[in-house]
Amino acid sequence: MRRLQDRVAVVTGAGSGIGLATVRRFADEGARVVCVDLDEVTGTKAAEEAGGLFVRADVTDEDDVARVFRTAFETYGSVDVAFNNAGISPPDDDSILETGLDAWRRVQEVNLTSVYLCCKHAIPYMRRQGKGSIINTASFVAVMGSATSQISYTASKGGVLAMSRELGVQFAREGIRVNALCPGPVNTPLLQELFAKDPERAQRRLVHIPLGRFAEASEIAAAVAFLASDDSSFITGSEFLVDGGISGA
Ligand code: NAD
Repeated sequence: MRRLQDRVAVVTGAGSGIGLATVRRFADEGARVVCVDLDEVTGTKAAEEAGGLFVRADVTDEDDVARVFRTAFETYGSVDVAFNNAGISPPDDDSILETGLDAWRRVQEVNLTSVYLCCKHAIPYMRRQGKGSIINTASFVAVMGSATSQISYTASKGGVLAMSRELGVQFAREGIRVNALCPGPVNTPLLQELFAKDPERAQRRLVHIPLGRFAEASEIAAAVAFLASDDSSFITGSEFLVDGGISGA
């Protein structure tokens, strides 16, 4: 199915995990993909695979983010989809009593401020077109919290969820849909790194997932492609859970 034929789609965090799987899925669905990452090697590789464009950018830097959307528009003539997905995992001890202010601020910058900047710079193009779909990566922890003490991470994702709801409501009449994607635990380098530090944490997490396993990134990408496409035309301001049932358990 080529539901995104000739749509211009910006993907941040395109070089790895959920971003990379989505780049592949978007390309399969016919999109022109603009791959954004800090990592030049993985980002370039993703863009080559998708026959798209790589823009090296730090999503916490407003000039970089403005350049990303300007480049997408100048190269391909529109900005139809923004998948604002780049993020980092929690610091080692992310409990409220241990997390330092610098670590807290860094997580908010990369996970939350980046989404604010990407929405701010994508919306003017979509507004002119009278159409667009924005998908912001939150997490299941934004909905249910986490017993594993990750205060800065959970708070950042709660912010992404609230911002997506707000923007979804605000821009609905202008044809711009905004949804928060809330994945459960996904088998990506981010999760592997977290569990390598604390293998028991993986087991603890696993027992709470009704489907009995972690998601593959391609399963998350399938949901992103749905939210990006007109198949989800009546969905905006949602918390879109793709979590193996964990939030309902
Ligand atoms: P990942 O580590 O595999 O990929 C993240 C990508 O983002 C990397 O390519 C990295 O270079 C890029 N990146 C990081 N900081 C950046 C910056 N400042 N500017 C530009 N690019 C930057 O991670 P993933 O597991 O694919 O996670 C993607 C998103 O999904 C994140 O927002 C994460 O919080 C969220 N998420 C992940 C899981 C999971 O279990 N893996 C669950 C829920 C939500």
